[in-house]
Amino acid sequence: MTRPLSELRGPVRALFSDIDGTMTTGECIEAATYTALERLSEAGVPVIMVTGRPAGFGHAFIKMMPVLACVTENGGVTFIREGRKIHKQYGVPAASLPEWRRRMNDVTVEVMSKVPGARLSTDSKYREVDLAIDYNEEVSLSVEDAETCVQMIRKAGFAAVRSSVHVNFGPPHFDKLSACMSVVRQVLQGDANDLTPYCYVGDALNDAPMFGGFPTSVGVANIKAWWDELAFKPSYLTELPEGAGLRELIDHLLSIRDN
Ligand SMILES: [Mg+2]
Repeated sequence: MTRPLSELRGPVRALFSDIDGTMTTGECIEAATYTALERLSEAGVPVIMVTGRPAGFGHAFIKMMPVLACVTENGGVTFIREGRKIHKQYGVPAASLPEWRRRMNDVTVEVMSKVPGARLSTDSKYREVDLAIDYNEEVSLSVEDAETCVQMIRKAGFAAVRSSVHVNFGPPHFDKLSACMSVVRQVLQGDANDLTPYCYVGDALNDAPMFGGFPTSVGVANIKAWWDELAFKPSYLTELPEGAGLRELIDHLLSIRDN
């Protein structure tokens, strides 16, 4: 049963946040959102970014944003701030990456030969563990063709998920939730089997497993577009969409902290 955000009572020890459509508004992080992230982090509530975007993006985010950690590539690569150093952690043993990549390149060639027009996404260059087939970003394939890609890739032994623009695929050994649990264990010194003191916020279908895994989860208002299709619904809902919804959540977290 989803409740209004005002009913969320803390304490919340850390905020795990999706990026696209949650932290961003129309693809940009607004100044006010950046300020809100700074205020929350300065108040002692660390922020962890969680995304399917490439490790290359995550490296820039962790270097430049007021966040403690950044989970990228759907859990494939996690960056953790340790003082002035950045610690990097892979979802599979680093030594196995060249062999995984070789097999992934083989399946990419197979997919491109069977599905005319399919190709690697331009951001695949900045990925270390997973790869993405573009079907709806810079090319325009049907959902049926995208599903054919998903099935071919799964048959070859990889995990594959379809977002609104890409088919992301990689070794079937990690996901966003397991990467967040390891941040809780290693960085927040918490119990990864009890995520109750932590909050996850997201905006879309690909956040459903996180809503299922975090007992305290929040959807920003634009998630209502996907409501009936969500396998797991967030426990709370903001009134405002996108970045404004995240700011609404951060204001609330700061207010329950002050009381
Ligand atoms: Mg999103």
